[in-house]
Amino acid sequence: MEGFTKEPRLVVLSSEPSAVSDRALAKFAGFLGVTAPLVPVHAELAGPPPEALMAPATERCLALSLATFRILKSQSWFPSLLPQAKAILIYGFGVTETECGDLKELTRGALASVVAVDAKTFEYHIHGDGKHKAFPISGRSYTVELPAVPLAFGSPSVRDGVDTLISVNHQPCFVSVPSGRGTLYLLSSPTLVDIDVPLPSNCPSRQWYAELLGLSIFLRSVFGRWCWTAPARTATIVIDDPYLKKRYGFLRYESLARELQQTGCSLTVGFIPYNYWRSDRRVTNMLRGQRDRFSIAVHGCDHTTAEFASRDEMWLNQKARWALERMDTHTKLTQMPYDEVMVFPQGRFSTKAIQALKECRYLAAVNTTVWPVDAAENPLTLRDILDVAVTKYDNFPIFGRRYPQDVFDFAVDALFQKPLLIGEHHAFFKSGFEPLRRVARELATLDTPPVWMPLQGALTSTFVVKRAGSGHYDARFFTSLLRLRNATGEPCLYSLTKPEAPGLVEAVTVGGKSVPFECRSGFLKCDVQLGPEDERDVKVLYRAAEHRSNHYRRSWNFRSRVFARRMLSDMRDNYLSKSDRLLAAAEKVKDRLFKDGIV
Ligand SMILES: [Zn+2]
Repeated sequence: MEGFTKEPRLVVLSSEPSAVSDRALAKFAGFLGVTAPLVPVHAELAGPPPEALMAPATERCLALSLATFRILKSQSWFPSLLPQAKAILIYGFGVTETECGDLKELTRGALASVVAVDAKTFEYHIHGDGKHKAFPISGRSYTVELPAVPLAFGSPSVRDGVDTLISVNHQPCFVSVPSGRGTLYLLSSPTLVDIDVPLPSNCPSRQWYAELLGLSIFLRSVFGRWCWTAPARTATIVIDDPYLKKRYGFLRYESLARELQQTGCSLTVGFIPYNYWRSDRRVTNMLRGQRDRFSIAVHGCDHTTAEFASRDEMWLNQKARWALERMDTHTKLTQMPYDEVMVFPQGRFSTKAIQALKECRYLAAVNTTVWPVDAAENPLTLRDILDVAVTKYDNFPIFGRRYPQDVFDFAVDALFQKPLLIGEHHAFFKSGFEPLRRVARELATLDTPPVWMPLQGALTSTFVVKRAGSGHYDARFFTSLLRLRNATGEPCLYSLTKPEAPGLVEAVTVGGKSVPFECRSGFLKCDVQLGPEDERDVKVLYRAAEHRSNHYRRSWNFRSRVFARRMLSDMRDNYLSKSDRLLAAAEKVKDRLFKDGIV
């Protein structure tokens, strides 16, 4: 749609009965990059609020609840307001026994009622018929069990003119209809979720998908490049644990390298720093030649039980440093660089671990859950979870990754401009490379196929931009190293922001040269000018961290237990994993041996 002469706004006409949902909508629009002023309205308003008329009618975008519509509809100035606007969103419907006169009026009889969809599980389908802007979720379905029964519009009696954008159990719940000079969008959800409400740990977000996806489709269809958009959609598969010998469990590096070249996929091994002395030079020499397809990242340090779930700051800082020292030694021994990214072992980490990674200058953390074990003290919100990376703790980026089970979740990640990170273990290759090829095929069917890169490249190429004017973009980035690329054919000015606390940053360099910057209101800000198709590394350099002495020594007992644990894990992956029965028995023995949880 687009076609705005200046920065567009979504004016939310807000009335008392729907004030909570109105505010929730304004927040979500702001989260996607669209300014959405709340304009209070009431029954005695003599004329349209001036804010609603600020933009010319052809650029006017309005949103209001059905409750607000009912308050305003009898006022003389109101009937002409909606048909003149470019786009209108109406939400907040309730079940009607038979017919809803307002709905009939809004859709010229096409939709007549709102019904509760009675079922145990709900299948939502996001329609993609080529008539509308394509999204990664277009043409895909997901199922969910819901705490409350969802609402849908009674099936349209007149099919012409009603476009179903989302349906639940085959009944439309988000539709668009032509309205005067513009388009009217109707979202059946009775209320809208506030993205700033703290959530319980590991709370699944699928229950809010229908409204969040509906609102995203509305905002991105209407406002396009005025919404935050990642110019590059990257993808990586991360395999945890293997060391670099000819073979680790079901993973054979020679055939893997061939496969990566053939499929064009990129893969990163979550490398346990403890194994730094064990790499086979022939294998590392071969893998060094695959820099655009293969890398290793830091996977714990000793990979002991819940290693980074500790709350002991000194211990975590030391572990994070030891891990880097071992990786550095590995690089010296093999000339193989590594990604300065932590993939947490067993998916468990604390907020103190995030602080340690920040202090030790890691670039990012990657995990199957973005929830720290001590999240209850400072819980995440939907805003945190939907963002490209969680940056709530020490402004340090935590990127989520997923097992390759349901491509719909990756499509949602893509819709929210996140890199597509797949997590697996060596057993992924148990029956050859077909599972990897399947993932590559599925991700290639998204509206825009991803660019495969090893982990560090994928994360440092991830940023989002939105139009700020002609040749000018606002850009948000997350990692302290950013590969900023101007993919347009025009020179562009980027006004960059990154979440950051004041007093930590020493300098910002662009292509190795210092540039002016400021840290204000929780954000680091700087401007970068790039020529057409140009790219530069933007680097945030931090002041030297407070020196932490080597408080801990690794006792002989600790070392021998780590050694025993690593050998048992290797034996499990290399030999026992081939027999399910032996594997189960070995897991039991290992659990008993290490029950104390010391290692
Ligand atoms: Zn692991």
